[in-house]
Amino acid sequence: MTFSKDTKISTVNNGRRNLLVGSAAATAAAGLGIAPTALLAQESSAMPNAIKQTMNIGSMEVSTLLAGTRTAPDPQTIFGMNVSAEEFASVSAENFIPADKNQFFFTPTVVRAGDDVVLFDTGLNPNSITAPLQAAGIAPEDVTIVVITHMHGDHIGGLSGDDGMPTFPNARYVTGQMEYDAWAKTAPDNFNAKVKPLAEKMTFIGDGDSVVSGITSVAAHGHTPGHMTYMLESEGEQLLLIADTANHYVWSLAYPDWEVKFDMDKAAAAATRKKIFGMLSADKIPFVGYHMPFPAVGYVAPRGEGGFQYVPASYQMMLEG
Ligand SMILES: [Zn+2]
Repeated sequence: MTFSKDTKISTVNNGRRNLLVGSAAATAAAGLGIAPTALLAQESSAMPNAIKQTMNIGSMEVSTLLAGTRTAPDPQTIFGMNVSAEEFASVSAENFIPADKNQFFFTPTVVRAGDDVVLFDTGLNPNSITAPLQAAGIAPEDVTIVVITHMHGDHIGGLSGDDGMPTFPNARYVTGQMEYDAWAKTAPDNFNAKVKPLAEKMTFIGDGDSVVSGITSVAAHGHTPGHMTYMLESEGEQLLLIADTANHYVWSLAYPDWEVKFDMDKAAAAATRKKIFGMLSADKIPFVGYHMPFPAVGYVAPRGEGGFQYVPASYQMMLEG
């Protein structure tokens, strides 16, 4: 992975008051399983100062975009549901994190690839995604393709506003056929409001299909029925956008068998974590995780006992090679 010297961590002010307010955010959050009132609680004073970080993968320019972050209590109602409170507490302590609260991060990624500007997922609402996009020098009109990894509210919320107006007027859309079909069957309100109206502009793909040259889908089912990750490849460099393969760097990535409330098929999600992180670990491929601590870029190493260790990218971003 090569990081260009003019693309280090941004210090752009994040305008965070706009990130997680409004009924759209509350609706989207409800789809994630977060109580809307909790989502609208006081913002964290520890909010990162930067809301975008850019790196280069070969000739592709990749920016992770912070579309929101917040603190929530009682993490074991979501993570490690099948382990004891004692085990949850000791694993948390070993990893230098509290066991009684969780910091959520929502991190879409935008990729400049050839003539295309490809956005992966859209945050909780239009404001949450357009602010960090702007920090990356990209207007909503510039986005040519929006890829939806899966259809939870925190990924589809920014597709359109409360008035139904699409946020990205010039974009076409790409998503998994299996994912779309699964949500179309139950047709929850959020899907009907955000996804269905755009269906005629959507290309539906399967495992191993190309979005554009150098961007290929990799099936990672379990979190949702058709959840997909995307491999970026350019000039011999690779990076995997893992979306929600793991929703926490300790309580899910490190312990892939720990059950996560949001994983619709828990056994399949655990098997997918082992497969995807096993591959990233063996091949030393960097990845972006939608819910990893911002800037959400890292590596994964074997931890023993079938688990993994998250290794945040840091030094690597300061190389000017
Ligand atoms: Zn998510």
